Amino acid sequence: LEGLERALERFHMLNRPPMSAPPPIDEGDLRRALERGEFVPWFQPKVTTRSGLFQSAEVLARWQHPEHGMIAPVYFIGLLEQAGLIGRMTEQIMTQAIREARQLYARGLRFGLAVNISAENLPEAGFAERIKQLLAQESFPPAQMTLEITESGVMADLARSLGALARLRMAGVGISIDDYGTGNATLQQLMRTPCSELKIDRSFVNGASRRPQLRTLLESTVDMAHRLKLSVVAEGVEDAEDWKLVQELGVELVQGFFVARPMPAESIHEWVRNRHE
Ligand code: C2E
Ligand code: CA
Ligand code: CA
Ligand code: CA
Repeated sequence: LEGLERALERFHMLNRPPMSAPPPIDEGDLRRALERGEFVPWFQPKVTTRSGLFQSAEVLARWQHPEHGMIAPVYFIGLLEQAGLIGRMTEQIMTQAIREARQLYARGLRFGLAVNISAENLPEAGFAERIKQLLAQESFPPAQMTLEITESGVMADLARSLGALARLRMAGVGISIDDYGTGNATLQQLMRTPCSELKIDRSFVNGASRRPQLRTLLESTVDMAHRLKLSVVAEGVEDAEDWKLVQELGVELVQGFFVARPMPAESIHEWVRNRHE
């Protein structure tokens, strides 16, 4: 009976209650949430395919709503963008993530951070400077920070985004092209973009071990990225077969449910410990 109880407990841990669909949200709700600091960072590990080492964590926003519980980003990111408030949320989340990472560093963990940036912030005057200033204020090494920007977002206004990307890249910040493969960037555009990493969208990764066409697409994308001297992250790795495939193809980093689900900072230490047991 005790074993059953433990199994049930484990089942509930692995199947945390789904994040709620919130009631209609207006701009006032978003402003209040920003003032009260209700947007919080969760972290999803990226590990190296070579040795499975914890290399960095993607910061994923959650809205810790006092009445409606944990709200997933699909319900609020677009609204924050429409309201012109996404930049403020990004800076809050980045600052909190750095502070939480620092506490883990103090406990002996070493890893970088990857923060999602809304592409529409890139052409804004002073954007790159604000990020650089935030990193300096928090004494966070720029080389430990990667900004993830979706392929479709960057390409929507590449000409006016290049300046900010170049300034950040020159300061040592990593630039990752997120959801790569869904945004139709030409090779020429990609070559002009000062990025350091391609993050291949999960629609090309998930199930690739069972589908030869996906495998071929993945293989040629990895090859092209390496020729451009970019490192490659595969997202959405959910099982051992896909893990094995991306490893064989020379993908450097893996992120996905097979490795870990997104979690609050306080769970990371335990995750690392269990992993190395
Ligand atoms: P994304 O940047 O592509 O982030 C990865 C999403 O895929 C996350 O969903 C993550 O939980 C999910 N995921 C990770 N591994 C797997 C897997 O193996 N299988 C499947 N099916 N899914 C996986 P999440 O946290 O709900 O975030 C959704 C999107 O919201 C993100 O997609 C990103 O576009 C956006 N987002 C989240 N936080 C921020 C933020 O701070 N700023 C901005 N601008 N966008 C954010
Ligand atoms: Ca991302
Ligand atoms: Ca992505
Ligand atoms: Ca995605």
